[in-house]
Amino acid sequence: MSCPICAKPAQERFRPFCSRGCADRDLLNWLDGRYVAPAGDEGDLPEADAPLDHGPLQ
Ligand SMILES: [Zn+2]
Repeated sequence: MSCPICAKPAQERFRPFCSRGCADRDLLNWLDGRYVAPAGDEGDLPEADAPLDHGPLQ
């Protein structure tokens, strides 16, 4: 059996992975796929729908 992350031979201690690092990476990949909520970087996009809210400040 080989590691699904890097295809190296799996270590019994970390099965089915070859190391702790690959096990962690798989977990992160899984979390990334499950929690797809955008971070603050993309928070600007919805504001483009309502630019008039800040228009008449002058
Ligand atoms: Zn690996």
